[in-house]
Amino acid sequence: MSTIPGTRDILPEEMALWHLIEEQARRVFDLYGYKEIRTPLLEATELFARGIGGDTDIVRKEMYTFTDQGGISMTLRPEATASVVRAYIEHHMYRGGELPQLYYIGPMFRHEKKQKGRWRQFYQIGAEVLGSDDPAVEAEVIEMVLALLQPFKIKVRLLINSVGCAQCRPRYVEILRAELRMAADSLCEDCRRRTETNPLRVLDCKVESCQPVIEQLPRITDHLGEECAQPFLRLKGHLEDAKIGYEVVPRLVRGLDYYIRTAFEIVSGELGAQNALAGGGRYDGLSEILGGPPAKGFGFAMGLDRLVMVLPEEVRASAAKKPEIFLVHLSEPAMRKAMAIARILRGQGSACHLEFDGGSLRSQMRLANKIGARHVLIIGDDELARDRYTIKRMEDSTQWDVSLPELTEYLKSIS
Ligand code: AMP
Repeated sequence: MSTIPGTRDILPEEMALWHLIEEQARRVFDLYGYKEIRTPLLEATELFARGIGGDTDIVRKEMYTFTDQGGISMTLRPEATASVVRAYIEHHMYRGGELPQLYYIGPMFRHEKKQKGRWRQFYQIGAEVLGSDDPAVEAEVIEMVLALLQPFKIKVRLLINSVGCAQCRPRYVEILRAELRMAADSLCEDCRRRTETNPLRVLDCKVESCQPVIEQLPRITDHLGEECAQPFLRLKGHLEDAKIGYEVVPRLVRGLDYYIRTAFEIVSGELGAQNALAGGGRYDGLSEILGGPPAKGFGFAMGLDRLVMVLPEEVRASAAKKPEIFLVHLSEPAMRKAMAIARILRGQGSACHLEFDGGSLRSQMRLANKIGARHVLIIGDDELARDRYTIKRMEDSTQWDVSLPELTEYLKSIS
């Protein structure tokens, strides 16, 4: 038996990297006042059909949908924004006074074509802020994503765009559609369909032969109404205040239908074709689409799997958790003593490792080395009799003799 295509086990060694990222994310969310929300992995299919939009790849061909024993159609969530907004409505979070600022970490499911950096079960870290359409909020979210990434020393680029709104976008979409119809012969089959159903999505097409056409299309940023152009200008101002470099990319549209105005993406050159690390944008109409009150919304999602892929070696090396002390025991009474000492040391917060089938002194020392223990404590019969033990600091091979109180003091002093 093995895992099904597009899914995988994340083994303990790699898990350390995931923890590093998740801990950093929680720390940064905390600094910006975001609180965690956990929504179910299973939701009513209708939530995504309505909330993501019928002409998206996600809803058309990527959802894991089934009917349960009670005859209800449910779907494994392909993203979390719709779920967060559903929760916002269901728990009347709009009544609280302050802006709900929510974050999530967890798995998403999409039946996508297999490709490097693309999984069918993948993980996202994301956040949503509801109730404001101030570009300052957008700049703060973008700053937060970059702050989250900062310690990982990854070279990233921030791409931004405005995709207009219900007033100005239809005008642009008609201009786009007219151009696309003229170029229909050079477009892929999907784009020919999108020309009629949702021309904006052509801008997102990755098919090689469509690229020359897309390059020549009119730019949405040249067709924004005043009510979209002004906020876009203000967003850029806030980014400049924060000294955040950005590139305006007029063909950047988000994969989901409900986005308006600001869209952004953070890309990394290390990732190849699937170069997006994170994406986000504004979705002011979503709450109403889901049956809630009008509510502004802005958020992002970052691919955790992809972030792990691009972590530089120095960061990977720092992630592994190593025991402070490896207790070598050379007889049954010594093992019992080792367990008692470990209990005391763990009680004061020092990570200990004991190997119960460890074998000889040599093989236990080899193991201590292999797992990167910082110290080794040797407990043999002589040491037991004297109640004094040999400690070895692995870094410089210094060895000395300690009583139990001296050992606890020493470990406290270096922690
Ligand atoms: P999206 O919700 O499609 O905007 O995705 C946000 C981020 O999630 C992307 O920038 C990717 O980093 C990540 N992501 C999306 N789909 C996948 C996938 N199939 N496998 C791995 N990561 C993904």
